[in-house]
Amino acid sequence: MTPADDVIRLIGNTPLVKLRRASEATGCTILAKCEFMNPGGSVKDRAAKYIVEDAEGRGVLAPGGTIVEGTAGNTGIGLAVVGNAKGYRTVIVMPETQSKEKQDALRALGAELVLVPAAPYSNPGHYVHTSRRLADETPNAVWADQFDNIANRFAHIKTTAPEIWAQTDGRLDGFTCAVGTGGTLAGVGMGLKAFDANIAVALTDPDGAALYNYYAEGELCSSGSSVSEGIGQSRITANLEGFTPDDQFRVSDLEALPIVYDLMQYEGLCVGLSSGINVAGAMKLARALGPGKTVVTMLCDSGMRYLSTIFNPAWLAARDLPLPPWMR
Ligand code: PMP
Repeated sequence: MTPADDVIRLIGNTPLVKLRRASEATGCTILAKCEFMNPGGSVKDRAAKYIVEDAEGRGVLAPGGTIVEGTAGNTGIGLAVVGNAKGYRTVIVMPETQSKEKQDALRALGAELVLVPAAPYSNPGHYVHTSRRLADETPNAVWADQFDNIANRFAHIKTTAPEIWAQTDGRLDGFTCAVGTGGTLAGVGMGLKAFDANIAVALTDPDGAALYNYYAEGELCSSGSSVSEGIGQSRITANLEGFTPDDQFRVSDLEALPIVYDLMQYEGLCVGLSSGINVAGAMKLARALGPGKTVVTMLCDSGMRYLSTIFNPAWLAARDLPLPPWMR
């Protein structure tokens, strides 16, 4: 491998790994894309790069400028990595309920962190609206707008989908993942279907999100809740518009946490809860497609980002959630 000219060129081209236990349990081949291996540690580096380069191309972001964004954390980390490499300031608005590790990572990267109380999207204090206002008030600032800026899903159409197609030699039957902005699901879905329209693309929704019901019954409505971060959408974002999944699944934390712990204990893969939800969804899609099929999903970020939450026995016990078997 020749040296990369800068860290931005290290974004993407992540490896696929076979998930042995999920494959054995379903009689299928379940492969997962190691997005935690991106420089900023998550799938959102891809969107960050494309959003920044799109803003530069449109002439709305220039040297000395500022990038402002509302995020559960990972997009902010990606923007800070890209911003540092390109010489932009980053201002990141985040709900205070997100993990301390992500807050600390943003501070370590030199982003200006603005924590706001968690609020529904209809509340003007919601982190997304707060970030838009901050961008409006800041000179030479651009609002990344990851939810409704389709440069986000374009990143996955142009990079993630062709990578998966090449890494499987075009031999895959299904893809599924959860939705935060929808950039990954719609972008990978559209990109893979351009290669082969027969690839089944499914939504995997955590409890508390409204999309499962929307695609299954036509109405946005949710029930339950999840301690997962970065996923669980209540509206059709611009990134989701024009894309309809072939199937949809719902996964609870009680189903996904043991999968996260299994991945850690038996496969050495340390990932966050959205990855566990994705793997649970991939197993459901594999069972729906039948034995011998190949299903791909995403390992969105590292479990190291959640040492204070889903790998912390006291935090889990306080929420009546299952502990990792080796911590019991
Ligand atoms: N998992 C994690 C941990 C995330 O931070 C995000 C992004 N918010 C996602 C999954 C979902 O990705 P997307 O925004 O592309 O839907």
